[in-house]
Amino acid sequence: MNIILLGAPGSGKGTMAQKIMNELQIPQISTGDIFRKNLKEETPLGLQVKDIMARGDLVPDEITIEIVKNRLAESDCANGYILDGFPRSLVQAAALDTFQNIDCAVNLDVDEEAIVKRLSGRRFCPDCNGTFHISTLQNAAVCPSCGGKLIIRADDSEETIRERLRVYYKTTFPLIEYYSKQGKLLTVDGNGAIDDVYGRIMAVLKK
Ligand code: AMP
Repeated sequence: MNIILLGAPGSGKGTMAQKIMNELQIPQISTGDIFRKNLKEETPLGLQVKDIMARGDLVPDEITIEIVKNRLAESDCANGYILDGFPRSLVQAAALDTFQNIDCAVNLDVDEEAIVKRLSGRRFCPDCNGTFHISTLQNAAVCPSCGGKLIIRADDSEETIRERLRVYYKTTFPLIEYYSKQGKLLTVDGNGAIDDVYGRIMAVLKK
């Protein structure tokens, strides 16, 4: 199954994508993770996107589309994949339709207040790409999955969170109508506990 996860920053796309990946045994393709890896390794792409990401803006469509096109052509995507953080604009969605057949777009619907709370308490593990909320951690510095050192993502500062939400509503939100018109939109209430949200997603995917 070729699945897109839609939703505002902090709506839980990454967390849900990892759980779906484990259950359905299909890869999670996160453009944010791809960019962060390049940043960490200081590749030419990483240097190109560094300032854009720090501001909370979107990486230009042509760069992002090319990366996703190449990644989805790899053999592990042959039986399906979960796109997490792509597409994020109508241009990206239209491009995706030219080289892939998407089965459904799951939209995680989360209250804006909850989003700001989630993002401002978020901790990230650069070693295993795990994301956690400070309220669930016994030790705010150590990854409970792999023991790595947790960090606050540079784009999780309050100012950048606001900018990312502004960009989301302006550029990404129209994708809900785009996939609704294609009859592919599945909306899920993304508020509440992780396992509850995950249960709702699996219920709509199995329909
Ligand atoms: P994320 O981890 O999905 O929140 O993405 C982190 C950052 O990576 C975003 O704020 C953008 O700067 C960049 N990014 C990730 N996915 C995309 C995309 N599909 N199009 C453009 N920029 C992206």
